Amino acid sequence: MILKHKSKFIMKNKCKNCGKCCIETEMILSQQDIDLIIRKALNQYNKNNFVFKNSNGHFQLKNLEGRCVFYNLKSNICRIYEFRPQGCRFYPLIYDFQTENCVFDNDCPRTQLFYEKNADLKKNCKKLKIFLKNQLKIEISEISEN
Ligand code: SF4
Repeated sequence: MILKHKSKFIMKNKCKNCGKCCIETEMILSQQDIDLIIRKALNQYNKNNFVFKNSNGHFQLKNLEGRCVFYNLKSNICRIYEFRPQGCRFYPLIYDFQTENCVFDNDCPRTQLFYEKNADLKKNCKKLKIFLKNQLKIEISEISEN
């Protein structure tokens, strides 16, 4: 969730497009996410189509019929997969504010398959924290790979 659209970190895609992560999404968006979607979708979407401000003051993806507004129910794929928000790229890795660390979201049935090496998991956790801090201005107490 870093300042570049594409992370240099190579993660094997183990996703089977079950779409569970896109049900009632609460994905937070950075301004960069929003700008990228609008630009890449050739202005097919305007901000009000897919974004609202949540009670914490963050931009958040809208849902439609119980799924993310970008989820295609017929094909079971994301309509904006190539320029999906950074948080969707980190998924199933998410940040737990109670433990102040990265955890896997229980909704994903294949979490154990995403990272073969613990070092890769730690690197991506660090990137997730940097994204939260730099782009979403969320206070993160510690950013390290340990
Ligand atoms: S933007 Fe795409 S990957 Fe992210 S929640 Fe929506 S449909 Fe799922």
